[in-house]
Amino acid sequence: MSRLRRQLLLLLLVLSPGPGCADTVIAGLRVWHPPQSTRLVFDLSDPVEFELFDLSDPKRLVVDMRRALVLGTLPESSALGPYLGGIRYGSPKSETLRFVFDLKQSVGYDAFLLPPEGTYGHRLVVDISPLEVEAVDRNRLKPGKRARSFVIVIDPGHGGEDPGATGRRHTREKDVVLAVSKRLSRLINGEIGMQARLTRDRDYYVSLRGRIDIAVREKADLFVSVHADAAKRRSAMGASVYILSNKGATSEIARQLARRENASDLAGGVQLKDREVSVREMILDMEIDWKIRESRDFASAVLKELGMIGPLHSRKVHQAGFVVLKAIEIPAILVEMGYITNDQEEQKLANSLHQERLAAAIFRGIKEYCRQERDCPMVGNSPALYTVKKADSLSLIAARYGFTVQQLRSENALSSDRLQVGQELILPER
Ligand SMILES: [Zn+2]
Repeated sequence: MSRLRRQLLLLLLVLSPGPGCADTVIAGLRVWHPPQSTRLVFDLSDPVEFELFDLSDPKRLVVDMRRALVLGTLPESSALGPYLGGIRYGSPKSETLRFVFDLKQSVGYDAFLLPPEGTYGHRLVVDISPLEVEAVDRNRLKPGKRARSFVIVIDPGHGGEDPGATGRRHTREKDVVLAVSKRLSRLINGEIGMQARLTRDRDYYVSLRGRIDIAVREKADLFVSVHADAAKRRSAMGASVYILSNKGATSEIARQLARRENASDLAGGVQLKDREVSVREMILDMEIDWKIRESRDFASAVLKELGMIGPLHSRKVHQAGFVVLKAIEIPAILVEMGYITNDQEEQKLANSLHQERLAAAIFRGIKEYCRQERDCPMVGNSPALYTVKKADSLSLIAARYGFTVQQLRSENALSSDRLQVGQELILPER
């Protein structure tokens, strides 16, 4: 619908108050596809009274909204995912707007309202998941040599309806952290004896509890949550690394940050209180000391490497009560790669070469930590010679191994930046 038409209709609504008139305008419907579920998000002008129920023969899911009006476009049925067949709406009685979704199978469902946040306004979220779930884990639990591999679970923060922090040029934390996490995953999987697992590999929301569950299920040896920072003060910049605190946050800033990252779970529709209790019960005092000691070693190694490629917000490892770090028996860190609210850092975070630099720095930190660990595989040093592969470029290789392009050029006496597949490059000593 054109903006003009929308404005005219909105004007009409404003000019004609009274019974039968809508209180809530539905500007659109967005669909997310996390594994084994579908999330529908209605974008609303105002909160709405709603009701949800299912019908059989044929199976349908009905969403009724009171005094609402559709002005946005609805997705094609092909975009509705594996559980929904089609969508239509009408008004079965006055003041009721009814959406009917055709179901391809029996589903469980849940719905809740979300208040405005960031670029989003009021929203009604409907979560749908299949009732037959045996198929779920058969795919995921592939038995094999995992027990012998050193497993690193990478956790790209936020996702889906939760964009995380947003920069002035609209760079979103959820996108940047996913890009860096995928690059980190590739680097880890290139190392013999190491395996990476991602808590999400696309743009959807995973609850904080769900992220812990993945780490536990994958028998993670290490856990890395990847984030980008935000601050009101636009000059704030630099990377920081957090570990779990046993006595609450070490500073007020850390507490605030923990609150912000934890609050994102509200956007995922999870009951914070219930989860907190069960998480607290999970943590056994005896293991906390060990976990914090290991996490601190790990965090220090990563912090040192991040300091080689850019500014640090703080030279010391911080402690805070991040829920996502609370999996027992797993050394865990949360990396804030830089401030997305700082113009210069926003630009860097969105740059693919810098993303490779960040991923490589975290990877070098992992290897450094590993050198002191009995359970770690024998990790190789950075090779002294690098053989050029397809799609390599001088700047990518430099980013990955933590050099400048100029260093590579002079070490190899290159007169041109053009590389040939199979060509050997000498990597300078770091
Ligand atoms: Zn974050």
